[in-house]
Amino acid sequence: MVQFEKKKLSDGSLHVTVTGKIDEKFDPSTVIEAAHGTTKIVVHLGGIRSISSLGVRCFESFVEALSSHELVLIHVSPAIANQIAMIPNMAGTAHIESAKLPFICPACGAEKPHSIPWKPNSASDHAPKCVCGAHMELDGLPEQYLPI
Ligand SMILES: [Zn+2]
Repeated sequence: MVQFEKKKLSDGSLHVTVTGKIDEKFDPSTVIEAAHGTTKIVVHLGGIRSISSLGVRCFESFVEALSSHELVLIHVSPAIANQIAMIPNMAGTAHIESAKLPFICPACGAEKPHSIPWKPNSASDHAPKCVCGAHMELDGLPEQYLPI
């Protein structure tokens, strides 16, 4: 079950926050409708817990349906980042701005999700600092979540 929260900003762009699980029941028709008359759509994907293989197809059609707009994906969750790293076509013409990935502190073991730019080496270049002062490390391999 997926939830959409739509907000039109004063600059005319449409911001959509998508949360939940993307599977074959993923139905973004209300977003596509709301996108009429806007040029830019920003989709927040930090709250996507999982995406099934049929969900990937649905997501591809969603991106395709909005290909005449400027589509930006932000705070892409680990589940989505992982799929896009494996299947780059999944994001089509969308611009992926950032990914919200799990970081862990090598010194004290603290964990936190942190948004970093979607680009190579980003996990080390943009690693957050822990409250204990140490630099945190990506909990996983960069190639699992980011372009190489
Ligand atoms: Zn720490």
